[in-house]
Amino acid sequence: MEVYRCMNHPERAAAAQCTRCGKPVCDECHNPETGRCRYRCGEMPPAPGMPGRSRNIWVTVIVSILAILGGLTLLLLAICGTILFSY
Ligand SMILES: [Zn+2]
Ligand SMILES: [Zn+2]
Repeated sequence: MEVYRCMNHPERAAAAQCTRCGKPVCDECHNPETGRCRYRCGEMPPAPGMPGRSRNIWVTVIVSILAILGGLTLLLLAICGTILFSY
């Protein structure tokens, strides 16, 4: 029967297995909150989902709309100024 060793500590027996890369890890290298190895997969965000991405898209859309509105307002002010000054 094969005894798994921690991928970071070959002298230690593995206590768990990373749920992402599947590597055996010891207690110190295993993150029980994510079920992943701390040093390889623990640093990565927990599965990039739709909410974060769509929120970024909405922020971009809102900023774009505000920029366009601001530009239109400046254009209107410029047109009004031109009309007022032409009299
Ligand atoms: Zn891992
Ligand atoms: Zn280890």
